[in-house]
Amino acid sequence: MPDVMTRGLTTAEATERRAQGGANKLPAARRPSIARRLLGELTHFFALLLWGAAVLAFLAKLPQLSVAIIAVIVLNGVFSLIQQARADRAADRLQEMLPTRVTVLRDGSRRVIEAEDVVVDDVLLLESGDRVPADAVVLSQNRLLVDSSMLTGESEAGAVAAGEPLFAGTFVVEGDSRALVTAIGQQTRLAGITRLTTSTRKPDTPLTRGLRGVVRLIAAIAIGVGVLFLLVSVLVGNPIQQAFVFAIGVTVALVPEALLPTVTLSLAWGSEQMAKRQILVRNLEAVETLGSTTFICTDKTGTLTRNQMTVVEAWTPAGSLTIDGAGYGPTAQLTWSSPIAEESVRRLALAGERCSTGYAEEVDGQWRAHGDPMEAALDALARRVGIDTVEDRRTGSAELRFPFDPRLRRMAVVLADEIVVKGAPDAVLPLCGDDPAAHQAVDALTARGLRVLAIAASPRNGRTPRDQHECERGLRLLGLVALEDPPREDISRSLDACRKAGVKVAMVTGDHPATARAIANEVRLRSATSPVLLGADLPEDEQHLAAVLDHDGVVIARVSPEDKLRIARALRSRGHVVAMTGDGVNDAPALHESDIGVAMGRSGTDVAREAADLVLLDDSFAGIVAGIEQGRATFVNIRRFLTYHLTDNVAELAPFLVWALSGGLFPLALGVLQIIALDIGTDTLSAVALGAEPPAKHLLEGPPVHGRLMNRTVLRRAFGVLGPLEAVLSLTAFVLSLMALGWRPANPFPTGHDLAMASGAAFITVVFAQTANVFACRSSSRWPGALGWVTNRLLVPAAFIGLAFSLAELWVPPIARLLGQWNPPLWGWVVALAAMPILFGVDALDKYRRTHRRRRRASSEAHPGRGSGAT
Ligand code: ADP
Ligand code: MG
Repeated sequence: MPDVMTRGLTTAEATERRAQGGANKLPAARRPSIARRLLGELTHFFALLLWGAAVLAFLAKLPQLSVAIIAVIVLNGVFSLIQQARADRAADRLQEMLPTRVTVLRDGSRRVIEAEDVVVDDVLLLESGDRVPADAVVLSQNRLLVDSSMLTGESEAGAVAAGEPLFAGTFVVEGDSRALVTAIGQQTRLAGITRLTTSTRKPDTPLTRGLRGVVRLIAAIAIGVGVLFLLVSVLVGNPIQQAFVFAIGVTVALVPEALLPTVTLSLAWGSEQMAKRQILVRNLEAVETLGSTTFICTDKTGTLTRNQMTVVEAWTPAGSLTIDGAGYGPTAQLTWSSPIAEESVRRLALAGERCSTGYAEEVDGQWRAHGDPMEAALDALARRVGIDTVEDRRTGSAELRFPFDPRLRRMAVVLADEIVVKGAPDAVLPLCGDDPAAHQAVDALTARGLRVLAIAASPRNGRTPRDQHECERGLRLLGLVALEDPPREDISRSLDACRKAGVKVAMVTGDHPATARAIANEVRLRSATSPVLLGADLPEDEQHLAAVLDHDGVVIARVSPEDKLRIARALRSRGHVVAMTGDGVNDAPALHESDIGVAMGRSGTDVAREAADLVLLDDSFAGIVAGIEQGRATFVNIRRFLTYHLTDNVAELAPFLVWALSGGLFPLALGVLQIIALDIGTDTLSAVALGAEPPAKHLLEGPPVHGRLMNRTVLRRAFGVLGPLEAVLSLTAFVLSLMALGWRPANPFPTGHDLAMASGAAFITVVFAQTANVFACRSSSRWPGALGWVTNRLLVPAAFIGLAFSLAELWVPPIARLLGQWNPPLWGWVVALAAMPILFGVDALDKYRRTHRRRRRASSEAHPGRGSGAT
């Protein structure tokens, strides 16, 4: 099949095969089956607690209660299953947005197609950083190294020789290759593997840690209080069976069953919001982690700049050429420094084009970069000085390529009659005798913020070098090429936003320090005093390194992938939550090591995208800022519904407290089943709606919300203000109802129907109070009226549905009887309805008092000189 090897399939053949063989869709990592997940939902920590309660209830001969608790477990399980499914669907939709383009040979030339359209017998042109889109056999290769860890769990990348198989889903980490597709989609080996392995585990996110803490704390309190009540009730002489009921009631009241699924849903919602801003979240928790980011390490090319390269100057020892003309097209205005420069510049341009794989191409009348934009710019330069690069590519293509090595910062190709090396000037000039004039030219060009490449060559003389070092003997400098890559438009504004949000930004680049400095100045990343460091000069000691790096606007140039990894580690060890961008194959470890690995959707490699938590689909730094905002919003939302849940808990716990303190004399205002009804029926939907609260405007003003999930504000509002208020209101409704029914303080308490009516009053009061509370919890500092009552569109219907549910529980006789409650007397209703305005009033007063105090404190503390404008 030699013809296929050199020409690939024809378009007609490919179309036919595509129609026959279908789309090349690789299976996604499998998720556990529904049954397995349900099992998981029924056996997680809270569920186990509740199972324990159900068993105790059963042993205490209370089958009704036991069944009710089991119903709660199952309902909750199904509920979180549905939420999980929603979250998964969101994740799938996001996954589909990931670019999956591959290069194949069709009709004798390279084509970039969707991975889905790869057919059997296609010739793949794979380069380092690519994900192999289908099973294939290697036709030819050049230093090919493949990472198969997804398939085999083997973490070392292995060499693959011609004739050997390549498997879909693996990554090319070095070299390049032509490979003939043998199987696609469901026929690939990947599809046959039931469990995909991923080698590295991410460190726990702040949210995971925070949640775990909250859950443990609440569980400990729930169990502790439950046991305490058991003891008290036995001590005051209650029958052991009744004591059990109380103990279980207390425990159930305190366990916020719906908390974890609500968190998941809120994260999923956050990720959907981010997707709208072209930010793709590959793991849900990254949503929140991003919000707590304190340090961003961004690369330069493509993130701060547009990654649209044009050669603006070509320097040779014989003279130079200045080029005026943006884009990758073949025409531009050329200005020669002297006529004799022409020949040597042309020679430089030809060599530059010959050692590039990226090129410029015309698509629909527009010239675009294919592959590395810098190499495409070299191709454009060659064309602009009159070289037919298409023809040259056909006749003069490289016999052997040693691809760009980010540690050496240079690459080499072996052509028919010469060997060409191109790379960073500081990596190439020493190989050809360090011409002082060349060094001077580099200084002048980099100071202008230009990216400079040096190109050198030596005659081949029949040699066939075995490694890059053997290419580097006897080199003669052909010249320098200086490229312009304009900064992105919105970049300065985004950097200002970071600064205002208390997030430090560092530039971490492989480029020349002078270029990096000039660009950093231009986009206002650095201030006059921010240090410019070199990767090679970074201190060995981690503590020391961290201290050196911990500055806003620091620029670190000429970094190697290992340096990036060390930078991420050092900053994390200093307590920073680090977001790190990266696009190359070698960036993967650093992306893993940082709290948030950020990859580029357009310009990055598949490897980097696979290692990242976040993919910026439009490659724009502004995306990170938008993500931070959304992440913070999500964190705040989690606090909001945490406050909401906990408030309810206080109201539910209070009747037990009163009962216990009265030595069992005062009747229980709320029964266990009523509490369950409140937790599930009244609260759940509203809590979910709170999780989808849109970001407040001030989120990016001031440092990250950071800190513990259950911070002082949450605790104070739930346990100090709103919770006790709800409890008092509910007990007032209870007592007033009892009195309305004829009870007087000195008399014995009523039982039966009267008690049920009073209990109904306590119940419905909590319901109304919670309905108001859900609006109050939308902000910890502002009155809900100031936010606009309907600005969270989910909340109003959710609150109404919760209310309707609760009224049904009060008014539908069989349900009401089961819960042990009844429609309350008028006085009960009066308190219940008054609960709403009272809660709003108290909440508003509290917020007013707090913001006032804070403002006073702020104005007394304000002292000048801490601004960043001091330079
Ligand atoms: P950046 O952080 O700007 O993306 P890189 O790590 O990609 O920097 O590149 C570092 C330096 O290596 C560049 O400034 C350039 O001099 C050189 N370089 C980058 N890519 C190539 C390439 N394909 N061929 C030769 N030299 C390159
Ligand atoms: Mg780069």
